[in-house]
Amino acid sequence: MVDGETADFICELCSCQKVRYIHVMEHPEYNGELNVGCICAGYMEGDLIAARERDDAARRKSSRRANFRKKKWEEQGENRWGAKYKRRSVVIEREVFRGRDFYKIQIDTDCYQWWKNRRIETLEDAKLVVFELIDWEETQ
Ligand SMILES: [Zn+2]
Repeated sequence: MVDGETADFICELCSCQKVRYIHVMEHPEYNGELNVGCICAGYMEGDLIAARERDDAARRKSSRRANFRKKKWEEQGENRWGAKYKRRSVVIEREVFRGRDFYKIQIDTDCYQWWKNRRIETLEDAKLVVFELIDWEETQ
């Protein structure tokens, strides 16, 4: 699932132009990926309810993300920001490696400085990684 953020993606199967939550699908008779809307995803996998549930879950996640983005972070120093989210203490710290900024995240006692095999290079990205990490734990 990809949240396109705006409802203007065009479904690659039916050309519906109002897709926001994009289902990335693979099919044995099709080479590569198809990016489609909810209903086409349901037809492709033969399970409309599963597609609907995924779509609803993506909707709920994006509203949680929107709430998270409104969160006020406390500046605890020039290179340090703190917040509480879902009863966890979160700290983001900026460091420099070979002249480039990167961001380290601490959630309670766990430390993270990589996301998808890359360093986190902006504060905005670091905050979104915090959301993804905690949201993933909360929805398990
Ligand atoms: Zn479609």
